[in-house]
Parts: sequence; structure tokens; C-alpha cells
Amino acid sequence: MTAKIIDGVAVAAKVRARVAEAVQARGAAGKTKPGLATVLVGDNPASHVYVRSKQKACAEVGIESFGHELPASISQAELEAVVQNLNADPRVHGILVQLPLPEHLDEERVLGTISLQKDVDGFHPVNIGRLSMKGREPLFVPCTPAGCMVLLEEAGAQFKGANAVVLGRSNIVGLPAAMLLLRRDCTVTICHSRTKDLAATCREADILIAAVGRPEMVKRDWVKPGALVIDVGINKISDASKKSGSRLVGDVAFEEVKEVAGGLTPVPGGVGPMTIAMLLQNTLRGAELVD
Ligand code: NDP
Repeated sequence: MTAKIIDGVAVAAKVRARVAEAVQARGAAGKTKPGLATVLVGDNPASHVYVRSKQKACAEVGIESFGHELPASISQAELEAVVQNLNADPRVHGILVQLPLPEHLDEERVLGTISLQKDVDGFHPVNIGRLSMKGREPLFVPCTPAGCMVLLEEAGAQFKGANAVVLGRSNIVGLPAAMLLLRRDCTVTICHSRTKDLAATCREADILIAAVGRPEMVKRDWVKPGALVIDVGINKISDASKKSGSRLVGDVAFEEVKEVAGGLTPVPGGVGPMTIAMLLQNTLRGAELVD
């Protein structure tokens, strides 16, 4: 079997087009323009790149963005005050605090300061709590796992009763992805660095989400024939044949796994583009919450 390649670029483009259309319709109806505030602390080059691409994506769909670049030396109280001001700003419908924060800052407290109604990253403890509880609805779902679910839907996943395995239990990907699969009635197994036989556990999966940050860890014989495989990993490995001397690979050995999987996301071009698309969708939702 050769896997259907799940094209994240194309699916993300559809989501962005839908958001752009809705933003335009809001304008025509005299409603406020959705606005996203980005809060960037310190000078981590990767974080700067991520924030810039989020701002560019906003501009492309007509969402206004408000950038706040703060020094690494900022105090906890000063950072919380910035967030409080954004909570009170009616032009802002989503607040994104780019992680990781410098060591001296308490990430949980900062995320907990964001208004629930503006928590477009979905990391507020109450939103995560609701996501994890039966019969409760979070206002926002974290963008990367939400993007994984859209890709699975596009690939025709049959969620109810499926065995789903999530490799990784981070707060931003693995854990919320597992909760989303559970909410769709999958039987979910979460694996991590202490899991005993990863390969055997993964082989049981009808749906496999890999979010470990280990280049090409998931091999062909870890995958059940016909399974849907979502590769969240973004890993840089050296490659002398490239001008840059490196290339990006996922957590899944793409070339061999595509021979057995039913569907598979590539890296790049799979989950990555979905993350920003879901952020735009969440920001639109933030604006709709105050209509
Ligand atoms: P974390 O490092 O926070 O979490 C990694 C998880 O994988 C942990 O739960 C860890 O277990 C587990 N793990 C690590 N090594 C192994 C191993 N050898 N065997 C089994 N489990 C292991 O990473 P993130 O969740 O933040 O990110 C995961 C990957 O996804 C990264 O490559 C990251 O770059 C990428 N990513 C991509 C995004 C996108 O938009 N496409 C967005 C966010 C992340 P334990 O808990 O026991 O330590």
C-alpha cells in the first residue's frame, strides 16, 4: 500500500480562505475587525521567526495584529501588566504569548493572566481543564493539535472506537491531542519516554500522532497497514547535499512509512501550516465571542 499524502498546505489554504471570507463579511456588516496581539519576550531567533510569520498570516486574511516586543529582563509583574492591558483592549480578540519565556518568568501564571475569551492559543489552565473534562467545552483548543484533527478529518478518519496512539505528552501537543481524540470516542494510548515497547504499542494504532521531536523515530514496522499517521515533529538534520548543510524531517521515517500507512503527513508541508491556520481561525472566533 502507498499512503495518501495528506497535504497540510492545501488544507491550511482552505482554512485561511474561509477565515478571510468571514473577516470580509464582518467588515461588510460593520462589525469589528478581528485583532491578534503577539507578545514576544527576549531575543530567541526562532521565536522572532514564528511571531513574524503569524503576523504576516494575519495580514493576509485581514486580521489586525499588534506586536509587543519586550526585553528578556522584564519582570513577572510587568509582563502580567502588559497582558492585563491587552485583556482590556477592545481591538484585541486574541492574545498570543510566544513560548518559551525566559527562565525567570512563571509561564503558568502568565498564561493564566490571559482572559479566557482571548486565549487563542488555548493554553489557559481553564481551557485545558475543560478540554480534559467530559461534558465541558473549552472556548479555544490549542492550535497544533486542533490542526492535527482537521487533517485527520480531511483524510477520512473514522474516529469512533478507533485505537489512537499519541507519541508524546507535552502540554502544547501530545496531551491536548490525546484529549481531542478521546472526545471523538477514540480509545487513546499516550506514549512517552518511559513507555516500554513503543513499536508494539504504535502498531496497534489506527490513528497515530507522533510528537516527540526525535528525527524519523517511527519506522515502517511500527505502523499498522492502512493507519493514518500525523507527523508533528520538526527536526533539523545535517545533509551535505543541501546548500544550507541541513534539512527538516519529522518524527516519522517518511519514505518507509508511506509504504504501509493509509495516510501520512509530510514534513514540511503537513502539520506546520495548519498551526497558523488554526490560530487565525481562533482569532476570528475571539472576535465572534464579543459580537
Ligand atoms: P516536547 O519536547 O515538549 O515533548 C516531547 C514528548 O516526547 C515528551 O512527552 C517526551 O516524553 C516524549 N519523548 C521524547 N523522546 C522520546 C522517546 N525517545 N521515546 C518516547 N517518547 C519520547 O516536544 P513538543 O511536544 O513541544 O514537540 C514535539 C515535536 O513537535 C518537536 O519536533 C517540535 O518541534 C514539533 N512541533 C511542531 C509544531 C508544528 O506546528 N508542526 C508545533 C509544536 C511542536 P517525556 O514526557 O517522558 O519526557
